[in-house]
Amino acid sequence: MTDEQDDAGPAGAFSVLGDETRVAIIEALAEAEQADEEGLSFSELRKRVGVRDAGQFNYHLSKLQSRFVVKRDDGYHPRLAALRAVGAIRSGTYTDRPTTETSETDFDCPECGATLTATYENALVQMKCPEHGVVFETGVPPRAAVDRSVQEIVEFADIDTQRDVERAVDGTCHICWGRVTPNVSVSSGDGRVYAKLDCEDCWLSMTMPVGGMILRHPAMVSFYYDHGIDVRQRPYLSLDFIRESDNTTVVSRDPVRIRVTTELDGDSLAFTVDGDLNVLEVEES
Ligand SMILES: [Zn+2]
Ligand SMILES: [Zn+2]
Repeated sequence: MTDEQDDAGPAGAFSVLGDETRVAIIEALAEAEQADEEGLSFSELRKRVGVRDAGQFNYHLSKLQSRFVVKRDDGYHPRLAALRAVGAIRSGTYTDRPTTETSETDFDCPECGATLTATYENALVQMKCPEHGVVFETGVPPRAAVDRSVQEIVEFADIDTQRDVERAVDGTCHICWGRVTPNVSVSSGDGRVYAKLDCEDCWLSMTMPVGGMILRHPAMVSFYYDHGIDVRQRPYLSLDFIRESDNTTVVSRDPVRIRVTTELDGDSLAFTVDGDLNVLEVEES
């Protein structure tokens, strides 16, 4: 590849950052932004990055311009892409520090009730049932795992997943910002109901009980709040109405109409959901 070609296209965006000086430049600019400083001049930026050769420094800086760095009247500023890249670096996504830890959790298998074991390894947390294998798996950047026990990592990951699901239910993918189409289907065999979120532009595909997808519906949040519970801070795995299939009934297959019911202290709340995961009706009794 020639210099003219190497920063074009999506792979080019990464190759542009494949150099320590350039990473140091965007980090210095991000730190200045964080400290609410004005733009940095060429010489100030070069001093902070610690490169003696002005020609060489200029070469690296020019590679970052347009996509990662912008020059304004008061000096150089990071673009959003640079701030996101620095965020990814700080989250530990690109550091290679494998930590492996396994322990039992306070959660049990939705299928059989056995205690689930969790392992955190290479930025991935995985929960397993001795009988049913992997029950839950998701990425947790090393930064989020610092000072958290495996149990706490699992709780964090579960609640973090809820935020991703909430965004996907609203139609946007948290990975690539593509469009997500929610779909509710009833298996023709055992009649089990599952909601699925698929991104049209990337590999994101989430499948879970319908109750999990409507957990952050305002009626759900306020029902729990009225009973003294912030349901947004409750892991999916601790909520019976999501886990137990009796709480989800098929009202109609064509068109798809699903009823999800949750109960607290003798009060109950029922949601009617269609095949696109729209909440059509909420009844409290
Ligand atoms: Zn099990
Ligand atoms: Zn996507």
